[in-house]
Amino acid sequence: MTLYSLCRVSVFPLLIGLLYYSGAYVGVHFAALESGIVVLWPPNAVLLAALLSRPPRYWWPLLVAVLCAEVLADVPVFTVTQALLFGAINITECLLAASLIRYFLNREMDWYEPKDLSVFLFTVFFIASPVAALGGASVYYFLLTNDTSFLTFWRLWWIGDATGLIILTPFLHMLFSARFRRQSANGRWPQRLELAVAWIVSLMACFLVFAGNLHSEDYLALTPIVVVVAPVWVAIRFGPLAGSCLATAVALYVAFTTAAGAGPFIRESESHSALLTQEFTVLFTVMVLYIAAFVHQNRRKSNELREALSEVRQLNQALEERVRLRTEELYEANQRLQSLALTDELTGIANRRKMKLLGEDEVKRSERSQRAFSVILLDIDYFKGVNDQYGHAVGDRCLQEFVRAIASSLRSVDRFGRWGGEEFMVIVPDSDHVDLAHLCEKLLGCVRGVAVPIDDHHITLTASVGVAEWDGASFDKLVSEADDALYTAKAQGRDRAELKRRGLLPTGGGTLV
Ligand code: GH3
Ligand code: MG
Ligand code: MG
Repeated sequence: MTLYSLCRVSVFPLLIGLLYYSGAYVGVHFAALESGIVVLWPPNAVLLAALLSRPPRYWWPLLVAVLCAEVLADVPVFTVTQALLFGAINITECLLAASLIRYFLNREMDWYEPKDLSVFLFTVFFIASPVAALGGASVYYFLLTNDTSFLTFWRLWWIGDATGLIILTPFLHMLFSARFRRQSANGRWPQRLELAVAWIVSLMACFLVFAGNLHSEDYLALTPIVVVVAPVWVAIRFGPLAGSCLATAVALYVAFTTAAGAGPFIRESESHSALLTQEFTVLFTVMVLYIAAFVHQNRRKSNELREALSEVRQLNQALEERVRLRTEELYEANQRLQSLALTDELTGIANRRKMKLLGEDEVKRSERSQRAFSVILLDIDYFKGVNDQYGHAVGDRCLQEFVRAIASSLRSVDRFGRWGGEEFMVIVPDSDHVDLAHLCEKLLGCVRGVAVPIDDHHITLTASVGVAEWDGASFDKLVSEADDALYTAKAQGRDRAELKRRGLLPTGGGTLV
C-alpha cells in the first residue's frame, strides 16, 4: 500500500472519528438538560451517514475510528469498560441501521426518493434505536444507577438517539456522498442570494420564537411553526440537500435552546421539555425532507418526461421527413413507370395503350367541339421480307428510321404512335381544316425517302395508308374503319393511301392518293 493510498483510506475515517468526537462533545455540553437527559444525540448520525456513503468493505476503519473517539469522549466521566460498551452499542445501532437500509433498498440511499426516506425513518426509529436503547438502558440500569426505571432509561436513550439520527443523518450523508459536489457546482448568484435570505429569515424566526422568554403570556405569542416556513421554502426551491441543511440548523438551534432552558418547550418536568422538543424537531425535519423529496422527484420525473417527449417529437419529425422523401421517390418512380408503360421501347414514341387513351380523349373533345379528327394507319409494305433478308436487327433499325422520318413531317398537334408490329398511327386533330390527301402524300413521300444503309447499298421502304375520319363513332370503330381502308390500300397495290369513309365531310369514301 503506497503512502498516498494509505492517506486516502485513512483520511475519511480520521475525519469521521473527529466529527464523532465533536458530536459527542456537542451532545453532552449543548444538547443535554440539567438532569442529564439528552434532547438529541448527534455522533451516531455521523457514523450512520459515513456507513451509508461507503460500501461495506470500507466500513471497518470507520468503526475503529469511532470506537477510539467514543472512548476518548467518555473517559472523563466513565470507565474504559463502560466507554467501550457505549461504543459497541452505538456502533451496533449504526451497523444495524446501515445494513437494513442497504438490504431494504438494494442500492445507494437517495434522498430524492420518498420511498428511501420512509425506509430510513422506519429502520432508524422502529428498529435500530430501540434495539440499541436496550443495551444503553442495561448499562445505565445495571452498571451505573438504578434510581430510574429500566423502561425510562430505554425510552430516553431510544428517543434521544432516534432524534439525533433523523435530524442529522440526511444532511451529513448528502454532504459525504457525490450528490453534494454535483449540486454545489450548479449554484448561481441569484439562487445563492435567495438561499442567504432564507437563512436570515430562518434565523430571525428562531431568535424571535426561542430566544429569551418571549413565549410568556403578555408577549405577542409566536408559534414555533414560524421556524418551519423558511426550511420548507428552501426544500421546495433547492431540494433535499439545501432543505435538510437549513432544517438541521434550525432543529439544532431549537434543541440547544431548550437544553439551555429557554424557548416555548420548557415545562416543569425536564423529560416533558425534552419530549416536546424531540417531537417538534423530528416532525419538522421529516416534513421538510418529505416535501423536498416529493417536489424534486416530481421535478425530476417531469424533466425526464419533457426530454422523452422532445425525443419523440424529433423522431416523429425524422419519420415525417423520411415519409415525405419516400413519397416523392414513389411518385417519381410511378411517373417513370407510367411513362414506360405508355412508351414504345424500340422507337421511343407513344405505344398502342397511349394512342388509345389519346384517341378516346380526342373523341370526347370532338364531341364537345363538333370538329372532326382523323386516324391514319400506316403499315410498312413487305416488311417481313426485310426481316427475312437482313435479319431482325436491321428490321429494327428500319423501324427507327421510319419513325424518325414520319415524326419530322407532322405538326406538333398531331399525335404519332406505334399501333403494333410495323403498323403506326397518326391522330390528326381538327382534320376538317387539313388537306388529308396532301398529308398522306407527304407521309408516303417521307417513307419513300427512308434509306437504311446496309453493306454497299440502302434499304428503302414504302408504306400503305388507311384513313378514317370521325363522324360521331367510338374510337375503336374509327380504328377499325382505318384498318379497313388500310386493307384496301394494300389490296390495291400498296404504297398508297385510302379513305374508308368521309365522316363529317360532305363527299363519300374513296382513294385519296
Ligand atoms: P404487308 O404488310 O405488305 O402485307 O407485308 P408484311 O410483310 O409487312 O406483312 P406482315 O404484317 O405479315 O409482316 C409484318 C412483319 O413485321 C412481321 C414481323 O416479323 C415484322 N415485325 C413486327 N414487329 C417487328 C419488330 O419490332 N422488329 C422487326 N425487326 N420486325 C418486326
Ligand atoms: Mg406490313
Ligand atoms: Mg402489318
